Amino acid sequence: PAADWWQGPQAKALLSALNGEARFVGGAVRDGLLGRTVNDVDLATPLLPAEVTRRLEAAGFKVIPTGIDHGTVTAVVRGQTFEITTLRRDVSTDGRRATVAFSTDWAEDAQRRDFTINGLFADGEGRVFDFTGGTQDLSPTRIRFIGRAEDRIREDYLRLMRFFRFHAHYGTGPMDAKALTAAAALAPGLAQLSAERVWSELKRLLAAPAPTEVLAAMGQTGVLTQVLPEALWPAALPAGDWSVRLLALLPPGCDLTALSDRLRWSKAELGLLIGMQEAAESEPPHPYGLLRRYGAAVLSGFAVRLARGGSVPQGWQEIAIGWQPRDFPLSGRDLIERGAQPGPDLGRRLAAIEQAWEAGGCVASRDELLAGLA
Ligand code: ATP
Ligand code: MG
Repeated sequence: PAADWWQGPQAKALLSALNGEARFVGGAVRDGLLGRTVNDVDLATPLLPAEVTRRLEAAGFKVIPTGIDHGTVTAVVRGQTFEITTLRRDVSTDGRRATVAFSTDWAEDAQRRDFTINGLFADGEGRVFDFTGGTQDLSPTRIRFIGRAEDRIREDYLRLMRFFRFHAHYGTGPMDAKALTAAAALAPGLAQLSAERVWSELKRLLAAPAPTEVLAAMGQTGVLTQVLPEALWPAALPAGDWSVRLLALLPPGCDLTALSDRLRWSKAELGLLIGMQEAAESEPPHPYGLLRRYGAAVLSGFAVRLARGGSVPQGWQEIAIGWQPRDFPLSGRDLIERGAQPGPDLGRRLAAIEQAWEAGGCVASRDELLAGLA
């Protein structure tokens, strides 16, 4: 089922501005051929970046020099962006990045890509150019390295993570045995990579529809220990997004702040996981209090709680789904006006009233609470 994204009028205009000397490449071709949604559209061309820019600007395109050093310019047409990169070959690699030289050879550009299904080109008519055997690996979808798995991983250890990530999202056949052997031998090399790059791959992997088999393979090859030594495996993986899967992999009580520092999570990611962890582990769980503090994170946290064999209060799902933030209607001043002394005791008393209010479903009004004080 070939999607027809490359026949859109914007793409047509762009290709004709480049005199047909550009082809779609990588993820766009792969996803188009698989009938999946194409997110970003990459093109490859033997033209040099300055020439690409000149021709596109002459044809009225807005061109942004996003990575001139790597040979990439971005053309924007009606909100749709096209990344156009000059053909390249690897001159040298150090396990993290490649030094590249421009090339005019399509096959050479294909050879430096990671997996056979990521090495396909397609022209404006939808003709596919396959220098890597990628079309054969589309159905069933197999993630196979272009060239020897060991060599390709040594060039760039991130490809190890990409192998598992792509298998989790696309693989429909068995995992490639040679890649798994190479992964087992080379897993320690992942330590060379920056934590951000590893985390970004891990997060995308955990978001796959069914990552269980891939995580098992990562456990067996030592890759999981390398990137997430805290992970318990095997673990019961609940349905859910990356955050649910991640927390389910971690042992109860795991120090999330330390993990966040190491993996360079964003503040939002850490905040979400902390709320989820409290919902998953607080005893007993008070859905209203948790919802007031953490909002939707509670739903995810309770999913983890259930996956760990724990129980959750009756009717919590209805409560969570219909949840609207509610402010506690009393303050310390109300107690002082009724004769309480300012100080720590007052704070504790107020907190106790708030907890009781939450336990009752956050429904008691201010007047009802005041009446209760008398
Ligand atoms: P998606 O964007 O959905 O993750 P993609 O295939 O577009 O998939 P990108 O990371 O955007 O992946 O990379 C674009 C293309 O560049 C890939 O299809 C692949 O051909 C090549 N590529 C990307 N990263 C590497 C790498 N580490 N080693 C070799 N080739 C790579
Ligand atoms: Mg992409």
